[in-house]
Amino acid sequence: MFLTHWLLLALFCDTYLHVNGWGLVGHSIIVRLAQSQLIDSAPEWIRSLTPWHWNGNLSAMASWADSILYEDNNPTGYANWQWSRMLHYVNIPDWSCDYQPERDCINDQCILGAIKNYTKRLVTEHDHIQQEEALYFLIHFLGDIHQPLHVGFRGDRGGNSVLGTFMNVTSRTNLHALWDVGLIAARLEKDFQKNISLYYDYIYQLMMDETSQIDDNLEQLSEQNINLICSQIYFDENNVTMNASVNFILGEIYYQRNIPIVEQRLVDGGRLLGTLLNRLAKTRPQQPSDKKSKLCSGTIALIVILGLEGVLAIVGGLLIWLRSKKKLSTRYSISEFSRT
Ligand SMILES: [Zn+2]
Repeated sequence: MFLTHWLLLALFCDTYLHVNGWGLVGHSIIVRLAQSQLIDSAPEWIRSLTPWHWNGNLSAMASWADSILYEDNNPTGYANWQWSRMLHYVNIPDWSCDYQPERDCINDQCILGAIKNYTKRLVTEHDHIQQEEALYFLIHFLGDIHQPLHVGFRGDRGGNSVLGTFMNVTSRTNLHALWDVGLIAARLEKDFQKNISLYYDYIYQLMMDETSQIDDNLEQLSEQNINLICSQIYFDENNVTMNASVNFILGEIYYQRNIPIVEQRLVDGGRLLGTLLNRLAKTRPQQPSDKKSKLCSGTIALIVILGLEGVLAIVGGLLIWLRSKKKLSTRYSISEFSRT
């Protein structure tokens, strides 16, 4: 039984080996946490930027920015989105252990620049499609920047080239994938019967118990990521530095040491995204999207009225037909009576 579970975990890790970001579960949790924090006009605004049948729920788009990049998910269109690949992370020189915008994020071509640009575009673009795209990129990148290895070393591509095994699973994973999905998958397996709803409830409670101020300084967040990388993430269970030339072997000790960081980052990501969306909803100028939402409700009302008229026409027609049938049968009865 134990082996089967870890085999499943291995497949889970392997499936997401090539995916940038938290993976489906982490991104989905962050977006849902954020939406649980929306107040005032923010939920209606988000609703106006999503298809009506989603009922304003953004979880389906939490990993959209990853899925468009890969042939598996987007076989005929993935090449068109490769320009966005570099916006999911920022690289720093190996073990430089600091972030310098002018060195690491030239012309805003990195995750910090992308968050800044899409935040602006979400409220300044007049085109509705552009607004929607800005929202879908923003909710994803806000999640990515809370995964510490998205501010990573250039030499090993944010830990993607650092290979090894985790929890005695024989197939290899890599350090980046371990932080994207491996640690969360192990947590789900160990303590939540792989039930993501239960896990979400747990993370939601962690968020509600949080009393600290929300820090929205992305440069400071990047520095915190780098501190974690340089002081903890790259150190194995014997405190030996991991690198691309030696396979790591990690297990329970590494998991126990790092899963609290993963969960704190999910909470922080949800809080920051929720705060940002509330702030943008409050400060944004009136957008065509507002008109779209009114148009949508107007269209829905028109459909309801037309539907009702249709029903009334059918009922009216039915009544006329019944009446004429009744008259006819009365006439026949009279003529039959007169024959006798
Ligand atoms: Zn990503």
